[in-house]
Amino acid sequence: MLSCKEVTEHADEYLAQELPLSRRIGVGLHLMMCKHCRRYVKQLRWLIGAFGELPRQASDEEVSEVMSRVKGRKPPAA
Ligand SMILES: [Zn+2]
Repeated sequence: MLSCKEVTEHADEYLAQELPLSRRIGVGLHLMMCKHCRRYVKQLRWLIGAFGELPRQASDEEVSEVMSRVKGRKPPAA
């Protein structure tokens, strides 16, 4: 079982479908059971949709900085 840290570290690759199958399954299983990571991945997916690809190896600080920059924007309907 992957930890939340591992899931969030690989979330951008997961969304870009760049992970090996075994890792994708591990992340998918974790997301089914962990609402915190589901929320993180949902936000990340929206960010990628809004800004194009995030920089490779984006740090938590960079991601949260982008998050706070877009905070005033309307969230996706979905
Ligand atoms: Zn988690």
